[in-house]
Amino acid sequence: MRRPFIAGNWKMNLLAAEANSLADGIVKDMAKNTPQVDVALCPPATYLATLADVCRDSRVRVGAQNLHWESSGAYTGELSGQMLKDVGCFYVIIGHSERRQYFGETNESVNRKLKAALQVGLHPIVCVGETLDERQQGVTQKVIRQHVVAGYDELSKEHAEKTVIAYEPVWAIGTGMTATPDQAQETHAFIRSLLVDLFGSQTAESIRIQYGGSVKPGNVDDLMAKPDIDGALVGGASLKIDPFCRIIRFQS
Ligand code: PEP
Repeated sequence: MRRPFIAGNWKMNLLAAEANSLADGIVKDMAKNTPQVDVALCPPATYLATLADVCRDSRVRVGAQNLHWESSGAYTGELSGQMLKDVGCFYVIIGHSERRQYFGETNESVNRKLKAALQVGLHPIVCVGETLDERQQGVTQKVIRQHVVAGYDELSKEHAEKTVIAYEPVWAIGTGMTATPDQAQETHAFIRSLLVDLFGSQTAESIRIQYGGSVKPGNVDDLMAKPDIDGALVGGASLKIDPFCRIIRFQS
């Protein structure tokens, strides 16, 4: 049985006081309503240490939005996995489509980052997903296969089990266009079949696959009703307490 996992990707938003108060509100709501889900907040890196403190002794964990694959060195502006661990990070998002689109991330860099994160005991959330153009050309499965197979190259079963995959169709991110629950389920089932081929069915069944792309209080219940949708990676709707807490309390 896979425990549902809802993560908020705050991207490059909020100032320190807003970030603190949002995290504090989510922690308090979780304490009151005790939903049976895992929750992660992925703020800008400057707030990771403070938020790890705000979330201490709660069921909310903190995640970073990126890391570098090297452990230290002359990489101006970068952060290593060890540094993220050191300030209380538990998760790290890897290969988000915005990083692929604007910062030149490739399946190869995703693979290096994934290995680096696992090496230091971080739990990676690996993003995969097709663009609108790719969907219209009918190559969604081909693209997803490349993302998963190359991204997970040379990973052991033990390491694969520590990861989460976020299926995020690029055309649904921040656009208000959500994949229908059936469209999402179809791709989630395909991703799970790829994981079966790579790691066997026991490992594949244990890996959580989140859906991401304009998840909101109004669509989360139907998405979460699908058998291979194990959670959500939420952008815009994670920036306010009420919608995000309603998403966490899906189907309640
Ligand atoms: C995301 O950034 O991962 C995302 C899914 O954003 P949004 O929910 O705003 O579409």
